[in-house]
Amino acid sequence: MTMWLRCALHAHTTRSDGELEPEELIAQYEAAGFDVLAITDHWIRTEAESTEGLLVIPSSELSCRLPDWPDTHLLGFGIAHPYWTGLVPGEFSIDGVAGIEVFNAGCELETGRGVATVHWDDLLERGARCFAIAADDSHHGDLDSRFAWVWARVGKRSVDAVLEALATGSFYSSTGPEIHEVRVDDGAVEVRCTPCQRVTLCSRRQRGSSVSFGPAGYKHRGEILAESDGITAARLTIPPHVPYTRVEVVDEHGRRAWTNPLWP
Ligand SMILES: [Zn+2]
Ligand SMILES: [Zn+2]
Repeated sequence: MTMWLRCALHAHTTRSDGELEPEELIAQYEAAGFDVLAITDHWIRTEAESTEGLLVIPSSELSCRLPDWPDTHLLGFGIAHPYWTGLVPGEFSIDGVAGIEVFNAGCELETGRGVATVHWDDLLERGARCFAIAADDSHHGDLDSRFAWVWARVGKRSVDAVLEALATGSFYSSTGPEIHEVRVDDGAVEVRCTPCQRVTLCSRRQRGSSVSFGPAGYKHRGEILAESDGITAARLTIPPHVPYTRVEVVDEHGRRAWTNPLWP
């Protein structure tokens, strides 16, 4: 039996520069309905017990040097907040790590540099097998948590199963919308999701497909299959000769969800 677990994968406690004690952070995410919390204090591994409702994964956020970028941050998963850090697309690679943060809520709230789709697409265009997560990077309790998470698809509710899902890309990222199904079928991708204003199949530069909701909804190489206060199912044509595609949806509040890449 497979199930989806809602994961907060980037959060700090008083053991580094966060404001909540580990137990308070755990209680906050458990009360908010999360299934998994990775505590990622800077440079240390904060140990804390899982509770009945929340699997706690001890992780960490390290600093490292990339060429010309002396202070880059690296989670147990991969590169954190590339836009906020100042990494330049085309000038860094991700050898040896699982992926990057496509969205970091703290960086978005503080500086408007939370979204890293340009960095992600650049890595993918250059052939990287790069996954991406969305995360809070919570430091300030209620104020900067529960904005971004990962849905991990697992066979059972365990830390090992979550780590396996993260390593193999069996997850997607969200700031609100849910993506229920993505199916590749005869040159197209079919997507089923909670009501959204736009469903897009992103790919390499100048390629892609998209449908938008509403009377004037623009459609490019795609069709809406079902709607209910928004698009709930869409079929998007895969452009020819592209190295990857990935699905991105946006709801009426501007909240987004991102699947991992689909490689041919
Ligand atoms: Zn950081
Ligand atoms: Zn952080």
